[in-house]
Amino acid sequence: MPIYEFQCQECQNRTSVFVRTVTSPVNAECGSCGSKDMIRLITSFGVSKSVSDVHAVHNNPNSPDYYMDPRNIGRSTEDKFASMGMEMPSQIRDMIDGAREGDMPGATKDLQPNVNEI
Ligand SMILES: [Zn+2]
Repeated sequence: MPIYEFQCQECQNRTSVFVRTVTSPVNAECGSCGSKDMIRLITSFGVSKSVSDVHAVHNNPNSPDYYMDPRNIGRSTEDKFASMGMEMPSQIRDMIDGAREGDMPGATKDLQPNVNEI
């Protein structure tokens, strides 16, 4: 379960908020003065961040890091076929598997700016 740490902009009090999933909206409220003017802090226990937290971030399509993980390439396509109860055409399957190995299809490669500089 992810824990977000927030700092109150009114009284600087810090509050940790448990959230059910990384995609849940978080309505942080200061435990000291009740202000909702909270900013999220980068967690101070980053060194001991659990593997599941890392995966939670990487499995969140709204995260800017999502597509940094090649295992997520084509996942939305997989989900789409799965949700329709269809088997993925082997041509698409091969393309996704290839992309995960770093073999980008031509059209996709053009959408990956500065991929060599990362
Ligand atoms: Zn406060």
